[in-house]
Amino acid sequence: MKYEVVIGLEVHAQLKTKTKIFCSCSTEFGRPPNANTCPICLGMPGVLPVLNKQALDYAIRACLATHCRIEPMNRFARKNYFYPDLPKGYQISQYELPLGTGGHIDIRHDGAKKRVGLIRIHMEEDAGKSIHGENLGHPDKSYVDYNRTGVPLIEIVSAPDMRSSDEAREYLTELKAILEYAEVSDCNMEEGSFRCDANVSLRPFGQKEFGTRAELKNINSFKFVQKALDYEIERQAKILDQGDKVVQETRLYDSSKGITYPMRSKEEAHDYRYFPEPDLAPVVVDERWVREIRDRLPEMPEQKRERFAAQYGIPEYDADVLTVSRALAGYYEQTVGLHNQPKTVSNWIMGELLRELNNDNREIEDCPVPPRNLADLLDLIDKGDINGKIAKTVFEEMYKTGKTPQDVVRDKGLTQITDESRIVKIIEEAMAANPAQLNEYRSGKEKLLGFFVGQVMKLSQGQANPALVNRLLKEKLA
Ligand code: ADP
Ligand code: MG
Ligand code: ZN
Repeated sequence: MKYEVVIGLEVHAQLKTKTKIFCSCSTEFGRPPNANTCPICLGMPGVLPVLNKQALDYAIRACLATHCRIEPMNRFARKNYFYPDLPKGYQISQYELPLGTGGHIDIRHDGAKKRVGLIRIHMEEDAGKSIHGENLGHPDKSYVDYNRTGVPLIEIVSAPDMRSSDEAREYLTELKAILEYAEVSDCNMEEGSFRCDANVSLRPFGQKEFGTRAELKNINSFKFVQKALDYEIERQAKILDQGDKVVQETRLYDSSKGITYPMRSKEEAHDYRYFPEPDLAPVVVDERWVREIRDRLPEMPEQKRERFAAQYGIPEYDADVLTVSRALAGYYEQTVGLHNQPKTVSNWIMGELLRELNNDNREIEDCPVPPRNLADLLDLIDKGDINGKIAKTVFEEMYKTGKTPQDVVRDKGLTQITDESRIVKIIEEAMAANPAQLNEYRSGKEKLLGFFVGQVMKLSQGQANPALVNRLLKEKLA
């Protein structure tokens, strides 16, 4: 690759207020079309918007959590364009005086820390949704659903600081974690409360000026953002290789074909004719209020990661994985509180637990194994009631049925065999069944110990205590 990749991301996140930003309609997802509407969010003549204070509170929190400067004086602006899902004919947004500026997000890539700048965070209202009738049996009709109209959003605009699609994915992961930790957005991509536009350009290494960019619109998963960027990087590289110029345009990503295609060029771009919103007074953000919000800010992902590594002595990698979400971090801390072996607990969560959850496409919130049960399982291993291998079987059963480990072990008769005479019997069986290997062992091939351990474990259905098996086998074989 001869070119340096330059990426800047624009993320729209829905603030989790109960009501819309300028009226008291509900923001509840999944209601019947147009159930959450009123004259204000339908843009009827003569109505007046009133700013939702909670939305501003959340937006300030998001700015503080990403180290933005809060502009003491900020203003809403009208962004004018004509589209059926926008009943007023303009969107209330912020333009020359956004709420927050100059923040940053630290990401880790290839083991190194990297700081991505934030140009601005501003507040705006969402538009509605057009539904085209093909799927409803009315190919000749289009419908509009204004439930989303007026739902509060923040737009977070990054500086063009990312240099690969991996960095873009890591930025999105970290931003999502920050917004969730700060409890300002639930960042549910399926419900559209976290959406990303990706800007990407290439330039020859060493060149100072940025190349011409394409903007990839509204991609609805991190995986697709990365794929769309990778496709786009290759497309632009080919154009530049041929000595041609990249056209500045907005493109869409087709996830079924894995390609991007043009939506509109710069010439067709909207002239939004921004001007100050005359129906809303400028918002003066009181310093004391900002301080109060800052004091209420919960622990952020980065702080939690550092604390986990220091307090529990677990590797940085473990701390990263365990803090992806607040719920997972909470699960970890609860389990360690009940079974004070931080690294063992971490191994079980990162291994068995996350594997089962991933297979099931389930979130930790719906995990059928509560911290208490996992801690009890680890206690059973410590007490020698079951060995590590059996514990994995027990865990699978706990996950499937929601039962306690004690119940699973009892119901399935899985307690460990620690009775020496029983183990000796099994050892003798194994020796009798494998005379050739026994001879080899006795003529010096001591590597075969492992083979016999395996045989004994198999004959005991995994239930023999491994330490005892090892010791007794050595005696008997000799
Ligand atoms: P617009 O108003 O058209 O969205 P902005 O200047 O606000 O344009 O930039 C939007 C996003 O594009 C920002 O995230 C910024 O980092 C990114 N960006 C700007 N120029 C480039 C470029 N040449 N290559 C890649 N990203 C860019
Ligand atoms: Mg843009
Ligand atoms: Zn309304």
